[in-house]
Amino acid sequence: MIPYFNYKALYHQDKELFLALFDNIAERGAFIACEELHQFEEELARYAGCKYAVGVSDGTAAIIVALKAGGIVPGDEIIVCSHTMVATASACAWVGAHPVLVDCGEDHLIDPDKIEASITPRTRAVLPTQLNGRISDMDSLHAICRKHQLLLFEDAAQALGARYKNQSAGTFGVAGTISFYPAKTLGCFGDGGAILTNDEEVYRKIKLLRDHGRNDKGEVECWGLNSRLDNLQAAILLHKLKKYPQDLETRRSLAAAYHERLNDMHELLLPPAPDSGGERYDIYQNYEIEADRRDALKTFLAKEGVGTLIQWGGKAVHQWKGLGFNQSLPRTERLFERCIMLPMNTAVSMADVDYICEKIRKFYRTN
Ligand SMILES: *Cc1c(COP(=O)(O)O)cnc(C)c1O
Repeated sequence: MIPYFNYKALYHQDKELFLALFDNIAERGAFIACEELHQFEEELARYAGCKYAVGVSDGTAAIIVALKAGGIVPGDEIIVCSHTMVATASACAWVGAHPVLVDCGEDHLIDPDKIEASITPRTRAVLPTQLNGRISDMDSLHAICRKHQLLLFEDAAQALGARYKNQSAGTFGVAGTISFYPAKTLGCFGDGGAILTNDEEVYRKIKLLRDHGRNDKGEVECWGLNSRLDNLQAAILLHKLKKYPQDLETRRSLAAAYHERLNDMHELLLPPAPDSGGERYDIYQNYEIEADRRDALKTFLAKEGVGTLIQWGGKAVHQWKGLGFNQSLPRTERLFERCIMLPMNTAVSMADVDYICEKIRKFYRTN
């Protein structure tokens, strides 16, 4: 059995250390906003190559706080790719803004060519999702934002450590957001998130907003909320960040192996291989492929003991009736008929990849 994701493995990879870490923190009673959180924030900023990182409660709150700190106000329109988690768009809605959904390109990321047609006098920002561990075409997005005087934010929930022209995901615009949900590349033992920024004033606002509007002296300066990253989660993340570059290399070698074993199959469309282009360092948060007869393939693999996942319940944001979008985005819709994600995490072995690829080949030989 190869599960799509093995949550217990997160613990078992370093069990003794995690137990000691929990004991240390609990014995000190250091639960909220203590040394480990500050240390983690410093290390995270250093790792991403930006001035500031702020830990928050989760990746969705991270977007809400980042948008608000960055100056988004009710009535603003924010351009988002519909091929994303609903959280990207719902965060816009929660600050009173309107998410305006656009189609994805061939690379499954926001299509820069579709953005300009969606710009109105109320457009304030573009919020690309750096999906599956791969960064969007930032040169084009920067050019559009400059031309139309729009703010740029990034939902980098899936892309901590991914690079574009040697710059890290989350550091391109006003602010970028990260998620530490357990199944993310840097996962904690519950919910967690962070915001990256290079702007001192935005940083100050983020810190106020995540802690009831309170400044360092405890004075309330504005309406805020409680969106703090637990100290215990910060301690776990601080430890995991040390070996994170290694984890990313493991993911990249799994991606290279999938590519080598499946690339000749005309029934499939694979993500680019790790070394396919000089401009990007992809971190493979997910290994999402397009496949002919996708549903039958999923059933077949399940019978052979291989867990797979169709991202976000199989629908793009604009396809959820309850959200009231009434539009058609052909490329995104076609993608959701064909996409499926194969096991991709540090608990997957090369032997697992061999087995999975063998079964995929068998499916297309016999079906
Ligand atoms: C996981 C994810 C989020 C939300 O993060 P949470 O920590 O679960 O709130 C937002 N956007 C994208 C693209 C994600 O993958």
